[in-house]
Amino acid sequence: VSRKWKVGRTHIDLGDDVVIGDGSLSIMAGPCSIENESQVQLTIDHLVKNGVRIMRGGVFKPRSSPYAFRGLGVEGLKMWYTQARKAGIKIITEVMQVSQIAEMYDYVDVFQVGARNTQNFNLLDELGRVDRAVMIKRGISGTIEELLYSAEYVFSAGNEKLMLCERGIRTYEKASRNTMDVNAIPILKSKTHLPVIADPSHGIGIREFVEPVALASIMAGADGVIYETHQKPEEAASDGQQTLDFEESARLIERMKKIFELK
Ligand code: PEP
Ligand code: MN
Repeated sequence: VSRKWKVGRTHIDLGDDVVIGDGSLSIMAGPCSIENESQVQLTIDHLVKNGVRIMRGGVFKPRSSPYAFRGLGVEGLKMWYTQARKAGIKIITEVMQVSQIAEMYDYVDVFQVGARNTQNFNLLDELGRVDRAVMIKRGISGTIEELLYSAEYVFSAGNEKLMLCERGIRTYEKASRNTMDVNAIPILKSKTHLPVIADPSHGIGIREFVEPVALASIMAGADGVIYETHQKPEEAASDGQQTLDFEESARLIERMKKIFELK
């Protein structure tokens, strides 16, 4: 995935004029967890209204506690897919293990590898063999080098539709959920030809500060931003504390576009 390997940068074409890494700003937004049909429809309506083409959401949730909401599974994904396709919206969602790849395959545009699975090498090997885009998140305590090696697993196995995501790392700092490593963005962009996406929601974990971190990430060179939004963040099944309502989300989209033009 080194820039020494490839001249130019990787563009990932998801179809229907949705391309990541081509110099446009990619925005991916949606809830932490897919919860039900009406939530999905409200989110899609919000995204369409604001020109966002990629929706995020988890159906398999990696929760610290086994007693927390763990997602709707493949049935939820199918319901989401049906609604998203009607609206021309692409889907990015987390795959947690190899056995889920086949059952999710037809309903996914981008497979997300979560921070807890960045070094699940069997999963990465398998994702290297599929014809679907993949986004690998940086590990919870992962170095930039480890993230790049994880990307090598997928790329060297043959899947070049690959992007990376900085989502904050665990440090001694307790004032934020994670420490968003904005430094990683220009460093990754200089080392690799792959698109780099920022996740300010998990990066800082505090709703009111998602926007400044998103804007800083764009100025640092991110090709896109993935963030959490929900019609009622205080009622979200997971990560409500870092989730924007639709009004905040609309404002963020507008500001991200403005900032992106300044670059
Ligand atoms: C998520 O995107 O909802 C998620 C679980 O992220 P991470 O793997 O970065 O913790
Ligand atoms: Mn989340």
